[in-house]
Amino acid sequence: MDLFDSHSTEHANLPRNMIENSMFEEEPDVVDLAKDSTAFPTFPALDPDEVAYEPRSSRLLVRGLGENDMDEDEEDCESSARLLGMSFMNRSSAHRSSSSPYTRQAPPRSCSRPSARTMVVCVLFLVIVASMTMVLYFLPGCTFTKAGCRKPNKTTPVEPIYPISTNGELFPWAQLRLPYSIHPISYDLTLNPNLDDMTFTGQTVINMTVLHNTKRIVLHGANLNITKATFKVGLKEVKDVTVLEYKPRQQLAVKFSEELKAGQYCVLTLDYSATLSHTYDGFYNSSYTDKDGNRRVLAATQFEPLYARKAFPCFDEPSFKATFLIKISRKQDYMTLSNMPKAKSTLLPNGLVQDEFERTSVKMSTYLVAFIVSNFTPISKNVSNTLVSVYSVPEKKEHTDYALDTASKLLEFYNSFFEIEYPLKKLDLVAIPDFLAGAMENWGLITFRETTLLVGKESSPLEKQVVASVIAHELAHQWFGNLVTMSWWNDLWLNEGFATYMQYMSLQTVLPQLDTGNLFLSVRFRAMDKDALNSSHSVSTEVNTPEQVEEMFDSVSYEKGASILLMLNTSLPGDQQFRKGIIEYLKEFSGANTDTDDLWNSLTKVWCVKMMNSWTSQKGFPLVTVSRNGDEVNLTQEHFLLTSENATHASSLWNIPVTYVNDSCSLAPECRQVFNLKTNTFLCVVKWLKLNYRNTGFYIVHYGNEGWAALIDALSKNVSVLTHEDRASLIHNIFALSRFGRVSFQQVLNVLEYMPSETESAPVTEALLQLNRIYRLLDKRQESGLVARMRVLYSSQTWGEEKSVSKQELRSSLLGMACSMKEENCTQQAKSLFKQYVDSNETFRIPGDLQHVVFSVAAQSDKDWTTLHSMYERVAYDAEKRKILQALASTEDTRRLVWVLKAGLEGDIIQTQDLPLIISTVCNGFAGYLFAWDFIQENWDRLIEKFPVGSFAIQTIIKSATSQFSTQAHLNQVQAFFSSLKERGSQMRSVQEALETIRLNQRWMDENLPTLRKRL
Ligand SMILES: [Zn+2]
Repeated sequence: MDLFDSHSTEHANLPRNMIENSMFEEEPDVVDLAKDSTAFPTFPALDPDEVAYEPRSSRLLVRGLGENDMDEDEEDCESSARLLGMSFMNRSSAHRSSSSPYTRQAPPRSCSRPSARTMVVCVLFLVIVASMTMVLYFLPGCTFTKAGCRKPNKTTPVEPIYPISTNGELFPWAQLRLPYSIHPISYDLTLNPNLDDMTFTGQTVINMTVLHNTKRIVLHGANLNITKATFKVGLKEVKDVTVLEYKPRQQLAVKFSEELKAGQYCVLTLDYSATLSHTYDGFYNSSYTDKDGNRRVLAATQFEPLYARKAFPCFDEPSFKATFLIKISRKQDYMTLSNMPKAKSTLLPNGLVQDEFERTSVKMSTYLVAFIVSNFTPISKNVSNTLVSVYSVPEKKEHTDYALDTASKLLEFYNSFFEIEYPLKKLDLVAIPDFLAGAMENWGLITFRETTLLVGKESSPLEKQVVASVIAHELAHQWFGNLVTMSWWNDLWLNEGFATYMQYMSLQTVLPQLDTGNLFLSVRFRAMDKDALNSSHSVSTEVNTPEQVEEMFDSVSYEKGASILLMLNTSLPGDQQFRKGIIEYLKEFSGANTDTDDLWNSLTKVWCVKMMNSWTSQKGFPLVTVSRNGDEVNLTQEHFLLTSENATHASSLWNIPVTYVNDSCSLAPECRQVFNLKTNTFLCVVKWLKLNYRNTGFYIVHYGNEGWAALIDALSKNVSVLTHEDRASLIHNIFALSRFGRVSFQQVLNVLEYMPSETESAPVTEALLQLNRIYRLLDKRQESGLVARMRVLYSSQTWGEEKSVSKQELRSSLLGMACSMKEENCTQQAKSLFKQYVDSNETFRIPGDLQHVVFSVAAQSDKDWTTLHSMYERVAYDAEKRKILQALASTEDTRRLVWVLKAGLEGDIIQTQDLPLIISTVCNGFAGYLFAWDFIQENWDRLIEKFPVGSFAIQTIIKSATSQFSTQAHLNQVQAFFSSLKERGSQMRSVQEALETIRLNQRWMDENLPTLRKRL
């Protein structure tokens, strides 16, 4: 899945932590009868699922921290590196053994003698325990429990407490995860949607195999009204069965009096009816207005992560893979799409047509199933053995060429890069008019927002960059995610980290003119900003509730995941090692499910990657501090954790593949030195060192006062002494160190001194983004001094057509900043462009990358806001519509702000899919941020009705609304509001992140306001 708003809003930090004590759990899954005061009825027999069940995620948290593991890692890596002539630096083993948290800790020993009082207490305690034991031993074969006297049975595990089904019977399963005793083989789905009354009926036939003897089948179903259920074992006759439902966990179950035996095959057939969903998940209804002004309805699906169960009863966990045969009925003027090509169409007696699709030729997880009923039209092309098509509403067909061309190129690239052919005969890419995520990788039927798939003739390269990036991401998923799937959501990064990494990697090869390198660089900076918080989480982390599953769709899974893959790739010798490793992994696990260990084990066959455990099993990342004593350079590492209050520090150090360049050789890849850092001292006769060459490593570097001064001096003499990625990395790092409290803001300003000679987009946009954050924090004061430093750059910008993507990025950021600060030259130019545009009846073209700036300036005037408002209703092209919407939401007229927010929530004039964008835009404005915060508090229940608790949309909304607060009063308000929500969201990681960010802002302002006042 692509999260999309990450493309358009500055998004960084998100949280974790309080979730474990789980207000989401309606009741304990397992209760120890000896401790519980209520005698619950129990379901007598336990099957192997309950005895053997071990959440896979729990294993990940303790992995890789043992002494042996670490030593083996180091030896392997070191010997391999030596073979390649890499310079491993001398490490002090004495230091390592005393300080490394990797080293298994000896149990604490007491050196002092126990006091007499302690001795007396201990003796008394032992006497009591001994007496109790004897009493229990001599009782007549009985232990006391709340349920009365029961026979002792030392081998019987604790029995679970089963919940009550909707019909009052005991529901035979007490856990969130399904039992493994039954596995689906194939599904036959028949769906009959009625787009007039927004309901549907369906029949699901599931062929299953019994893996362990059991007396029950447990699967998922949500909001489905089961009307008939039959069951058949092997060749026995079909019987009616009763389906039990436990709504809080969205589970269905069938109980049997006789055991189903391991190895048997059986068939469960369920008929049901349901309502098409009004949110953005499950089988949901959507609509759009066609060019004649008529409202057209359609139905589409979004099943990831937990919503296939809303469309059909199924084993809705990623590891229950099966094949699917899908039939859908429709009116004759509609068409249907599903994962596979259509096999046949049959006219039904009721006048409807039933389309039947081929059975999927691959086993797939339920979250990848998809179907659409609509009036879309396609354009198509054959690529290798696959028919690639792009579908849109008929009037936007002319906007589909770019997507078809890009998807075709990328499909060819991936086919050859992975050395595994895309396995299906067709690949559809469909633009859905109302769609929340950026896109969804359903196998063979990828769904998109219109903005992420359709490109107008006049589109700017930046718009093409968005479309190409999303297509590249979703196509990579056809291998990473669809062919090889994570076993459970705790390892979502195996899908999303890889797809994100591959999207940048493939585009740099296939469409280098889109210049996605800068985009990936800024993505890595934002991932660090989030991961520096205590509320962050490890890449592979425990996930136990639906809300925690939703929260996994965040920048740690996507962007940190991609960043550590880049770090791994760039630390390997040669370009092909990484590729060989992932081909090995894809081939080994094709069609199967994996966890993080499987990936590292697979890659280790090609190259030593055991060091990667330290990056996936603990949150955060290291700060590497460089200190020099003459020619001796000493490097140390520590956890870069911004807040120390209640902090849970990462337990370990990281195995960092450190890279560096120096003043004698700093630009070409050959200049780069690589070594593995734990603690190092080495000799180096140089003027300056720059670590983390091109910022491909996931760490921050502090050079000490002298080190920074030497780098600033070098840059002031010749800006090109470092690559532009290295310059951007210095800027990001110095701001981060200032936030960390390690350097003063004066030192930040010292680094920015060289800025007037900067010509590249990445360093300037990073500096602007950082300064803009501070600017917003300064209580919305007009501080024109902030942009003064950038004025040289700003004044050199032109307003005409600009072809290069990086130049467009640069001027769009600079002019955006200048105009938002009401720089006279900037606003005048923007106003005049808008006037020309309106006077020419919208035939005059504003360059695509400037539209946002021009519209936003126009929206500040009463008359032009009204013009934009009518344009918004008229314009069909989604990318332009979004820019107009952002302009409408950037007004300082509070009456209008309220209108925009309300319209976004209602979803008639403005689609609700755009509400997170509206809120983040309103929050950036000087007039709107308090309004937005009130709006969120007042409408919280409606928001979580539209967007699930924990989802990326909710994460964005919380972050936008709170990240600019920096006072105790606001902190108290935010804390009070979220804690009042209880199960409606108080446990979200993003709430922790919001509170942490406000505290950080508060601290930063206290420390730096005097300098800012003096300097700006
Ligand atoms: Zn994805």
